[in-house]
Amino acid sequence: MRNGAPTRRLGIMGGTFDPIHHGHLVAASEVAHHFNLDEVVFVPTGRPWQKAEQTVSAAEDRYLMTVIATASNPRFSVSRIDVDRPGPTFTIDTLRDIAGMYEPDAELYFITGADALAQILSWRDVDELFTRAHFVGCTRPGHLLQDPGLPEGKVSLIEIPALAISSSECRQRVASGEPIWYLVPDGIVQYINKRGLYRAS
Ligand code: ATP
Ligand code: MG
Repeated sequence: MRNGAPTRRLGIMGGTFDPIHHGHLVAASEVAHHFNLDEVVFVPTGRPWQKAEQTVSAAEDRYLMTVIATASNPRFSVSRIDVDRPGPTFTIDTLRDIAGMYEPDAELYFITGADALAQILSWRDVDELFTRAHFVGCTRPGHLLQDPGLPEGKVSLIEIPALAISSSECRQRVASGEPIWYLVPDGIVQYINKRGLYRAS
């Protein structure tokens, strides 16, 4: 509490978003509901360090798709902090920068897929990560997460209904001429077509 105002609860959804799809959006919406978040900030990565070997679309395209996909939700916003920071993106930098930009006492909830969460112990400055944010791992129904030895009380797991969508699958579908309607928002289908993204060269 500051000046009688309740502490704000902020979700942070980091991702490559190449492209953003309904799995990301449903995960953010479910976590926002479950943890009573005031806002979810989507943060497209600059250069994702785990994907250094792989070609990733231009940051500006990924940023714009994230803006298009979230524009209609008053509780969703998009931050450029990772896109504008030179060098590879590390989650600790994202959390430090976000903490500096919003109310200093805001509670941060970092939303991530269970796959990424399982590797979290290899992330940079892992101890500081857990002091800065609560981590929420999204799992698929029936997909049990092995306890990777994460600190108690710092991580929650929540099941997201029926979402096997991935960006990789969307890119492959575009490359082979298959539709991605309804896997991603309509505006994303149109943006991908307009910019010629993911077409086989
Ligand atoms: P790629 O297939 O290229 O790895 P992706 O679909 O996993 O892409 P990312 O941008 O890498 O998308 O993911 C951002 C975050 O969203 C990660 O924490 C990831 O685990 C999570 N995520 C991705 N897809 C889903 C989904 N269908 N349901 C819930 N969370 C998801
Ligand atoms: Mg992924």
